[in-house]
Amino acid sequence: MVSRSPRPTCTRHRVEVDGGPVQYWCPNGHGLTAADLDNEFHPAPALQEAGA
Ligand SMILES: [Zn+2]
Repeated sequence: MVSRSPRPTCTRHRVEVDGGPVQYWCPNGHGLTAADLDNEFHPAPALQEAGA
């Protein structure tokens, strides 16, 4: 058994999401799929959404 797996976090808000394992919900009010989640810990914000 896994002792303590880190919860997935919203890639946009960097907060823990609820639900799973396929559909997750961000506390900010939007849904995410497993592919949208950031399961890895990034020590530095390497990637940022640069829109314009
Ligand atoms: Zn979010």
